[in-house]
Amino acid sequence: MTQVADRLAVLVVEDEDAIRRGLCDVLSYHGYAPTGVDNGPDGLREALTNRFALVILDLMLPGLSGLDVCEQLRGALPRQAILLLTARGSEDDILAGFERGADDYVTKPFSISELLARVGALLRRSGHAPRPDGETFAFGPWRIDASSLRASCPERSVDLSPRELAIVALFVREESRIVSRRMLLQEIWGFANPERIETRTVDMQIAKLRKKIDRGGASPIETVRGAGYRFVSDTV
Ligand code: CA
Repeated sequence: MTQVADRLAVLVVEDEDAIRRGLCDVLSYHGYAPTGVDNGPDGLREALTNRFALVILDLMLPGLSGLDVCEQLRGALPRQAILLLTARGSEDDILAGFERGADDYVTKPFSISELLARVGALLRRSGHAPRPDGETFAFGPWRIDASSLRASCPERSVDLSPRELAIVALFVREESRIVSRRMLLQEIWGFANPERIETRTVDMQIAKLRKKIDRGGASPIETVRGAGYRFVSDTV
């Protein structure tokens, strides 16, 4: 099986220690990079400060309710994937959650397999981790085949590493938007707090990818001075 992104960062906002720790352990075991927070204000701050592929949000939280966190988060980050944890039989909460911008919910108590299925489905829907079962997608004139790690354009085909595939998928998801080195370190390398990580790693990886997909014109991956990179499909 193709491993697309090394570790996707997931924020778990849950005040019950056993559930929070259990969730983080399960997510970590299944290849995600979880961060646990035990109250609403810290959850909101963390979600807005760092980039997470997914935010798992309990509804009953001290400080700021899960619904309020959800609403503020959705207002600030329209594309953030948000999964709510709700109590069984609380249809009103679920509806309120959807109204405030949640993408999906899991009812407590939940099984691990149910949770992982919801997490995986939501991440795929929100553009993370193309499925390794033959999914292809466009990267400008390149056709990317996630299952075989091949990129093909009219002139040639090249092999991609799993990491290069993950980077390309991230650029496609964030098309026309700036992708910072920090975001790449978090989403591709899985560093939850990449402040002290050497960003040269990122630059070297991007240089290698650019060389691979070079077609003689302007690179589809632009450097945005002082900010990071940007994929613009019509320059490919
Ligand atoms: Ca709670």
